[in-house]
Amino acid sequence: MSVIEGEVPFRVLPALTEQNRDFWTAGARGELRFWRCGDCRHWIHPWQPICPACHSKSLATEAVSGRAALATYTINHQQWMPGPQLPYVVAIVEIVEQPSVRLTTNLVNCPHDRIRIGMPLRVIFEPHPDPDGDIFIPLFEPEDA
Ligand SMILES: [Zn+2]
Repeated sequence: MSVIEGEVPFRVLPALTEQNRDFWTAGARGELRFWRCGDCRHWIHPWQPICPACHSKSLATEAVSGRAALATYTINHQQWMPGPQLPYVVAIVEIVEQPSVRLTTNLVNCPHDRIRIGMPLRVIFEPHPDPDGDIFIPLFEPEDA
């Protein structure tokens, strides 16, 4: 897994909590982490206090492979707020470990005429300094980028 180098766009950054800190900061170690049930191994995102599959409270964060599939996308041509350079791709991706875990993210490093539903992707992190702990926003690029 890699990190975007150079200038990064303005983003409204999340407020870090005990529950979301690993998700937003583990990119510093090249990891994409989600909560996972210690009993039935179900992946849980966003965090919930009990496992929705088996009602266990034995939850901890774990790294996934960083691989995902493109579920759907839209190309944004309108500058609604400060953010990435236009046009950019807003994507919903499904992680390969458990497709019910979906992230709304940006697809990067991909010519728009190459975008295909279901295409294999991998995570790439966009770093943002933050006084409370640097935030690494998980974006996705084609697996063969
Ligand atoms: Zn469970």
